[in-house]
Amino acid sequence: MINYESVIGLEVHMQVNTRSKVFCECSTQFGSKPNSNTCVVCTSQPGTIPILNKKAVEAVIKTGLALGFNINKESNFARKQYFYPDSPKNYQITQFNPPLCSRGRLLIIVRGEAKVINITRIHLEEDAGKLVHEIGRRQLDYSLLDLNRAGIGLMELVTEPELSSPEEAFEFLSELKNIVEYLGTSECSMEKGKMRCDVNVSIRPAGQKEYGVKVEVKNINSLSGVRDAIAYEVERQKEVLNSGGKLVQETRLWEAEAKMTKSMRSKEEALDYRYFPEPSLTPFELTDSFIEGLRREIPELPRARKARFIKDYGLTEYTANYLTSAKIIADYYEEALSYLKDKKASSKLLANWISTELNARFNILKISILESPISCQNLARLVSLILDGTISGKIAKTVFDKMFEKSSDPEKIIKEEGLIQISDKSIILKMCEEAIFESSKAVEEFKLGKEKAIVAIVGLVMKKSKGKANPQLVSKVLMEKLKM
Ligand code: ADP
Ligand code: MG
Ligand code: ZN
Repeated sequence: MINYESVIGLEVHMQVNTRSKVFCECSTQFGSKPNSNTCVVCTSQPGTIPILNKKAVEAVIKTGLALGFNINKESNFARKQYFYPDSPKNYQITQFNPPLCSRGRLLIIVRGEAKVINITRIHLEEDAGKLVHEIGRRQLDYSLLDLNRAGIGLMELVTEPELSSPEEAFEFLSELKNIVEYLGTSECSMEKGKMRCDVNVSIRPAGQKEYGVKVEVKNINSLSGVRDAIAYEVERQKEVLNSGGKLVQETRLWEAEAKMTKSMRSKEEALDYRYFPEPSLTPFELTDSFIEGLRREIPELPRARKARFIKDYGLTEYTANYLTSAKIIADYYEEALSYLKDKKASSKLLANWISTELNARFNILKISILESPISCQNLARLVSLILDGTISGKIAKTVFDKMFEKSSDPEKIIKEEGLIQISDKSIILKMCEEAIFESSKAVEEFKLGKEKAIVAIVGLVMKKSKGKANPQLVSKVLMEKLKM
């Protein structure tokens, strides 16, 4: 059996985060009534003229700068001709050569190993409309056309064929999504179609230089879908070759439910797009000061923020990784931290509550931190109540559960449930005396030198207090009593 390795390249479309479309003033509002965000330009009426949205160009360049791209200062648009009913113009305004950005890169870390993935280009282009296929009455099938999306600006990013596993592709896209969300140049929501990805997959005998026959898989709408589609495709290709078959260059569709790819068209039928310079948009030139101005607007990116979290807040690599894995989580953490007086004392504790307890619940409920029933202000309060000894860490878990359930503040819950920690020495002393009286065996062991036996007595006091006694104080009082 031949040992095959896989070669993967990605083509990613991200909707630029602008309020209006790329060549007209129509709104980009998601979920509007079908065809309400349209005008003579984006419905392709004859004789209309596109006007370039500067903000869309800025978004692409900013993204390019953040990923180490060269910005091509002399730029233009091209017409790509093809017929499809979702695009009444019968062509798409896009960029051919040069694109706005050439030769960038992204560092990914998979199973502890760092790898740089080169990115060929990012260019700006317009989106097409959307066909809605209806199964009509009387068995008549028909399709509806919604042009709200037609003319929305997209940045298309194309990688070199340098990814070599489904995990690497997954990591690349997660990292890209995270960076672009930090930049704010796209919302990257795959559910809303604001980030879409086509994957190109081939296999070759390990060590061989030449590439194998490439298959393009379209129609994938989630990160895990990308991973699954690549894994499926690699296995399928191996099976074809191992059984003596031949692969053909083709485009396949990912069927998410069936978890398999299906042939759509072979490349032989591929169109010649006959690109030519778009006559209604003049070529344009970007100045250095325009580009440098955009470079200055680039905010702190995930890796830098992670390093700062480790350095300034004393977090572990693991926790910092989780907190910076999405901008919304890192923002939640730092906002919560801003409510705490002693940042040094609270930064780690707060980070742990977010990365363990909150994270676990989000995973179960499949919600994002934006939908957290516990506001960052309330989580900060909980942490400060632990730090000042009002409640123990154990009670805090109970309070946390109730906070999550009722979305209310910790003080209210502590009051309602009578959960304040008992730190009154005379009450603790009384409970300790009772416990000593009831634990003759442990006491005897302790007196014979087995200091560990005290744990059982502490446990009994905690039980008597329904978990509310201050455990440090209980240990201290017990020690004093037993050593008397
Ligand atoms: P096409 O002309 O078919 O669109 P491109 O050269 O533009 O092909 O590449 C499109 C994408 O396919 C890029 O992401 C590229 O990295 C990837 N790619 C090219 N060749 C291969 C291959 N043999 N195996 C996997 N991916 C490939
Ligand atoms: Mg291509
Ligand atoms: Zn319009």
